[in-house]
Amino acid sequence: MTQRLSSWVTSANSADTEFPLNNLPYGVFTGAGRTAHCGVAIGDQVLDVTAAEAADLLQLGQRNVFAGGSWNAFMALDEWSQFRSYLIDALSEGSPAQTQLQAHLVSQSDLQMLMPFTVTEFTDFYAGRHHATNVGTMFRGAENALPPNWLHIPIGYNGRASSVVVSGTNITRPFGQLKGPDDEFPRFAPSARFDLELEMGAIVGKPSSDRISVDQADDNIFGYVLLNDWSARDIQAWEYQPLGPFQAKATATTISPWIVTKEALEPFRVNTPAREFTLLEHLKDTGPMLYDIQLSVVHTAPDGTETTITNTNYKNMYYSAAQQLAHHTSSGCPMRVGDLLGSGTISGELKESRGSMLELSWGGKEPLTLSNGQSRSFLEDGDQITLVGAAIQTDYRIGFGVCTGKIVPSNTTT
Ligand code: CA
Repeated sequence: MTQRLSSWVTSANSADTEFPLNNLPYGVFTGAGRTAHCGVAIGDQVLDVTAAEAADLLQLGQRNVFAGGSWNAFMALDEWSQFRSYLIDALSEGSPAQTQLQAHLVSQSDLQMLMPFTVTEFTDFYAGRHHATNVGTMFRGAENALPPNWLHIPIGYNGRASSVVVSGTNITRPFGQLKGPDDEFPRFAPSARFDLELEMGAIVGKPSSDRISVDQADDNIFGYVLLNDWSARDIQAWEYQPLGPFQAKATATTISPWIVTKEALEPFRVNTPAREFTLLEHLKDTGPMLYDIQLSVVHTAPDGTETTITNTNYKNMYYSAAQQLAHHTSSGCPMRVGDLLGSGTISGELKESRGSMLELSWGGKEPLTLSNGQSRSFLEDGDQITLVGAAIQTDYRIGFGVCTGKIVPSNTTT
């Protein structure tokens, strides 16, 4: 499917829409008289599938799949492809379903987006080679930039599901233990090196109870979102040895509101990079496992000035989400519907393609200049960070909706 498909929802046929009929991402919304309904984005509209299901218009094997206001129940069904085929047919130009379905369309501008699914657990990886090289060079020198395990396993840690929030949620600057290199003792204060991390999130849609292959892992991934893994670098620097990040990464992780299905991204598959060492059997590449998704980060200063601070691409990853998931299960670790895997920060090779302020400002030594002339090494209160992403074909694009969050001052009363 590499041509733009035509829909009777005419806004879905414009060349610049993020949501053509080829996309059909899944979200949850409130507004227009509805509370927490599941919806499918099409052009500038949303098809209210909770209402369409209640009116008995959908062809699903079970009832009340969308009544709970989350996509987890649908993920647990084995009807991903059939439902997408049904939607494509029903929303295609000339479909006889138009008369009944158009009563369940609502304008996106009237809606507020909620979390599209319940995150059961969140695991964050460190699988971008340029990011790992940049960070390693800053902390350990260019000679020892990549840890010895890095080219053999996708490094990760178990994060927090409880602090994953949907785009638009304000992010409170965290307090934490801080200790500068010349300080004798740590102090407890708001993070002064608060940062973003540009990532993609992969959503596990099928449970597993034992070790699975890379191909099985790929089958188990339901879809993708943009993900900003907010990080307090100064808290991290003091706490991370020997068990890795803890409070530095626990404040919040923002995701975009629309789950873009793996099927919508199929035409954009690309190969993982050349391997320096052959990967062990359980992690071997089995085909094109990454996606060509253009990504950028926009910084909005408190005065409203916007500066695009990064342009990069998901294909810069060293390990695919399927390899990360296969690795995650390699010990026998069970995975559940709604498990979220962060890719790791997606930095490109160039300075202007780095996916965090830590790298963009090189640890604060080379502050960025914003469009309004101000400089930034890390994020200040009132700054807003917006991730955008799209997979782009000649005549259509697959967008994710924005993934945005504004930094608000620490709560100093506790
Ligand atoms: Ca991260």
